[in-house]
Amino acid sequence: MILIFLGPPGAGKGTQAKILEEQFDYRQISTGDLLRKHRREGTALGKEAQGYMDSGKLVPDELIIRMMDSELANVTDVILDGFPRTIAQAQALDALLRAKGLTAGALLFDVPRADLEERLIGRWTHPASGRVYHERFNPPKTTGFDDQSGEPLVQRPDYKAETIRTRLDVYEKETAPLVDYYQDPKAKRLTRLDGLAPIAEVTDRIKKLIAIRPSAA
Ligand code: ADP
Ligand code: AMP
Repeated sequence: MILIFLGPPGAGKGTQAKILEEQFDYRQISTGDLLRKHRREGTALGKEAQGYMDSGKLVPDELIIRMMDSELANVTDVILDGFPRTIAQAQALDALLRAKGLTAGALLFDVPRADLEERLIGRWTHPASGRVYHERFNPPKTTGFDDQSGEPLVQRPDYKAETIRTRLDVYEKETAPLVDYYQDPKAKRLTRLDGLAPIAEVTDRIKKLIAIRPSAA
């Protein structure tokens, strides 16, 4: 099953993807995590992507689609977190899945913009695993350190207060049109989720949706 986590930055996609990855056989593919890995390793793609990422803009479709072509070559059960983010990416994904005889369902995380800013400002991450914390809503057991590895947490350097607004604007302009792309009533490919509920409750709802509507979610 290919599950697309759709929603604005800060909606809780990465948090839920990590929980489901640990509890089920899903593998999370986060384009943001992949790009950050390219940057840490200093690859040509990482160097090309960094300016876009630091300013809160999207990395060009062509680079993302090429990266995902190879990432998706052998997958079956996967959560796509942060991809697709444009109509062109969604069309490329559909073509790729069609060729493999697979379909994808999208889960839309609904969270009002005012809440997203607070979530993003208080977010801390563990770079090696992608695990996500929040200083108020989901604090680690020991402040500043990952629960499982004990390694230090970081605040993403590309999430300064001034770029958060750019990211949310970019979402509304370039990614929000995917809601219409996936909500074609005949294909029933989109399911809405109240992302404002506490983390454990959102997880429970996703689990129910996956169980009840395996073809749509
Ligand atoms: P995304 O991957 O959609 O950008 P994240 O999973 O990184 O979002 O979550 C953004 C921040 O909000 C993190 O600090 C996370 O701990 C926190 N968060 C995630 N889900 C919830 C929730 N349901 N309620 C409150 N805070 C949440
Ligand atoms: P994320 O970790 O999903 O918040 O992504 C961090 C940054 O990586 C984004 O702000 C973009 O610059 C870039 N990025 C991640 N995924 C994509 C994508 N599918 N298309 C374009 N840019 C992306």
